[in-house]
Amino acid sequence: MDYEAIIGLETHVELATKSKIFCGCSTAFGAEPNTQCCEICTGAPGSLPILNKEVVRFAVMAGLALNCEINKRCHMDRKNYFYPDLPKAYQISQAGEPVCINGFLTLDSGRKIGIERIHIEEDAGKLVHDNGSTFVDYNRAGVPLIEIVSKPDLGTAEEAAEYATKLCLIMRNIGISDCRLQEGSMRCDVNISLHEEGKPYGIRTEIKNINSFSNIAKAIDKEIKRQEGILCSGESVKQATLRYDAGKDTVYIMRLKENSDDYRYFPEPDIPGFIIPFGLVKECKKNLPELPDARRERYLALGLTKETAGQLYRYKKISDFFDETLKNGVSAKNSANLMIKGIFSFLKTEEEKETFDVKITPMQFAELVKYVDERKLNINRGAEILGKMMANGEGVSSYIIIGETEGVSEEDLEALAKEAIEANPKACEDIRKGKKQAINVLFGYIMKKTRGKADTKLAEEIINKLL
Ligand SMILES: [Zn+2]
Repeated sequence: MDYEAIIGLETHVELATKSKIFCGCSTAFGAEPNTQCCEICTGAPGSLPILNKEVVRFAVMAGLALNCEINKRCHMDRKNYFYPDLPKAYQISQAGEPVCINGFLTLDSGRKIGIERIHIEEDAGKLVHDNGSTFVDYNRAGVPLIEIVSKPDLGTAEEAAEYATKLCLIMRNIGISDCRLQEGSMRCDVNISLHEEGKPYGIRTEIKNINSFSNIAKAIDKEIKRQEGILCSGESVKQATLRYDAGKDTVYIMRLKENSDDYRYFPEPDIPGFIIPFGLVKECKKNLPELPDARRERYLALGLTKETAGQLYRYKKISDFFDETLKNGVSAKNSANLMIKGIFSFLKTEEEKETFDVKITPMQFAELVKYVDERKLNINRGAEILGKMMANGEGVSSYIIIGETEGVSEEDLEALAKEAIEANPKACEDIRKGKKQAINVLFGYIMKKTRGKADTKLAEEIINKLL
């Protein structure tokens, strides 16, 4: 039997505000346990929370980036549940009037995935299990979150992974979160149900806290197969919360649910309802940076290949640096290729690429690109020099060897190309037969004679002409 999958994602994103949502405690990651909490974030009797305006601003930014309507009137609600990491026994969240509603995110296929709502809320503390004992760290209690709830518009595991990846890039790009799944600053819960086409939706299950984008796709695939197995054998799927075990590549049931959770939401009495001023929305709209998809399109229009554009646009700081470089009138293609060859081999991890902490300025980099544009340095030598510039923070002039940028004249290059052809008849025959790779033999000859100074692109043109 053919079943259709209905998938929705609930994504928690930790906001990069300096202080917590209802008090002045720091949100910095990695501090000693219980050193960043006060009577408000631990909910001591008599303490009064005050809403951090920056949290609302960040949520509005997220809403605008995801094409949402921004609610004019909002209020906070108490979501009641008991768990040791929640000292108040309720979480302050938003039920009825969230900050944003009715948005969408567009997948590369052009399909629009609806965003039902984005609300603000506080994070809970963290339980640390050690040697049979459990400790609680309240540093995370009160850290601001937005929860982005998609409509159940996703049909496949790949679509869900793409949606989550895009969400992450957008949030990073507008600067409201670093969205690190491994560190928990982005957490995805996936809802899945199967049904036959034309029939009502099936019972849904939820996979909690998947810690990487590729695991989102794997977990969903496993769960779809598990539910298919149950339905095909004539049984019915039970409402449950599951976890994905990446090591064993399998999903397992954490707990079965009898009925849906009843959180007994009620309006938070300590925080008055609030209005989101039109001026704030206008200001956020004005400050919204170019979003990742638009950036990629612009890079493609500059003549970059899909791969090159794809490597640059996903890192905000790298893209910003690239854009600044272009303001100096240098070629986009050479700049991009040099960055990928020189900078990407220097910054290896994803985190290094995101932080992009480099010692050179776009202007210094543009000076180097100019040499390549003018064919005074070839791209490999340019990348080599770039590596040195990155390590020491000095300009291009510190690394150029005297005479190096004089290059090889077209006449000299043509004479050398002729020599190379005469010396390598076999390679020339291969090229004529269509084995394009064989041209590297001729390049090798020319590079050796010019100590790497020749422009390979020009050499290629000359060789092709001569052959
Ligand atoms: Zn506090």
